[in-house]
Amino acid sequence: MSATHGETHEFRAEIRKLLDIITHSIYTNREIFLRELVSNASDALDKLRFEQSRGTAVVDPDEALEIRITADKDAGRLTIADTGCGMTRDELVDHLGTIAKSGTEAFMKSVSENKDAASNLIGRFGVGFYSVFMVADQVEVTSRSAAPQAAPARWTSDGSGSFTIEDVDGEVSRGTVIEITLKEEAKEYADPERIKSVLRKHSNFISFPILLDGEKT
Ligand code: ADP
Ligand code: MG
Repeated sequence: MSATHGETHEFRAEIRKLLDIITHSIYTNREIFLRELVSNASDALDKLRFEQSRGTAVVDPDEALEIRITADKDAGRLTIADTGCGMTRDELVDHLGTIAKSGTEAFMKSVSENKDAASNLIGRFGVGFYSVFMVADQVEVTSRSAAPQAAPARWTSDGSGSFTIEDVDGEVSRGTVIEITLKEEAKEYADPERIKSVLRKHSNFISFPILLDGEKT
């Protein structure tokens, strides 16, 4: 599959600061990144289901509503996919880099007062997606919006300053695929047993099926 029309964007200034804290100051409780990504997948599936229930036309209407995780321990790669509402190219730029997050300032203030608590604060302030950079060297988000006319696009970043966005040629089914290249010291999150235990601990009440390497968890 080829990709075209690439563009590099700077992260919004306060998101850059947030990413700097996330990548360089948080060494405990990093496992909660998985809770944040699974919760985003679940939100996206909720949105899709809501749109379908009110009669909005969506792409791939018969696709099962589920979260699919795959892990490659040897390669140190982890993928989290959902068949939810997806994002257009513009939505990827807005939601993953440009729009201010309401909790960011309060989060950074709390972190500067108490570094040890940072990993606990991430969840509380809804810093959400960016927590992936606690464990990732590189993240690729490929998404196909449920809107029938939307084209698929890909967002890529190493969490340091900027991200790139490009069109994706070829067939992409509805929803979002997040591919994570894990940091050397975070390779444990490509181990299925470790993933299962984190899911049991933090994502037990997700109402959509979560498949791990094709099997129901
Ligand atoms: P929050 O979930 O609190 O809004 P996040 O940082 O976790 O904050 O996510 C930011 C935004 O990115 C979400 O509000 C959503 O619009 C978008 N997003 C993230 N993950 C997904 C996904 N898997 N599918 C669709 N949209 C997503
Ligand atoms: Mg979230």
